[in-house]
Amino acid sequence: MRESTQSNKRRGVSIEDQLSPKFFGDTRELCRRQSPAADGILVVACSDFPGDPFCLFGNPDNVYVLQNPGNLVEDAHDDRLEDGNQIELILKLWSISQIVVCGHVPCRYVVDFLTRQPSCDRLDSDVTRMAEGFAVDANQRSRPRVEENVAKRHLLSQLVKLVNYPSVRVELDAGRLRLHGVLHCLNGLCLYDAQLRRFLRFRD
Ligand SMILES: [Zn+2]
Repeated sequence: MRESTQSNKRRGVSIEDQLSPKFFGDTRELCRRQSPAADGILVVACSDFPGDPFCLFGNPDNVYVLQNPGNLVEDAHDDRLEDGNQIELILKLWSISQIVVCGHVPCRYVVDFLTRQPSCDRLDSDVTRMAEGFAVDANQRSRPRVEENVAKRHLLSQLVKLVNYPSVRVELDAGRLRLHGVLHCLNGLCLYDAQLRRFLRFRD
């Protein structure tokens, strides 16, 4: 799947192009949720995400959380292998109707990427360009803005990985599964609007 994403990139297909609005659910509705969902919600969140990811969407019943540094979505596993990865296993064992990728700023993972540029996801050349701009900004006055932009691009690239899971794609196309992108910023939550192709502030 990494190959197909990279070939998309070579053909000039943007991250936003790969995130069709039909794959996304109503994130505002999800954030306002008070009662338990009939079906499960899978949350992929950063290890140092502020607050409890179980409680982001009202009632924590039927919420499954995967946390790792940088809210990374694993690559889809090779179909020839018998065992799937964690996400595929959760989708197989529980009835999941929504997957939410939760990032945040400031995030140590993003700062680490900006300062050292380790083996972070290079799915999006925009991120690399932003990091280069960050490095030459001696005063670093734009640092918070760059950090936020990189966190957004990084989050979207994780959603693209999900779309490229064969098992997820089948469910998305059938309308049985919906995606959400949520970024916790200093002044509140930002939700990805796939129609407008940008993050919007969430005001309850
Ligand atoms: Zn983090």
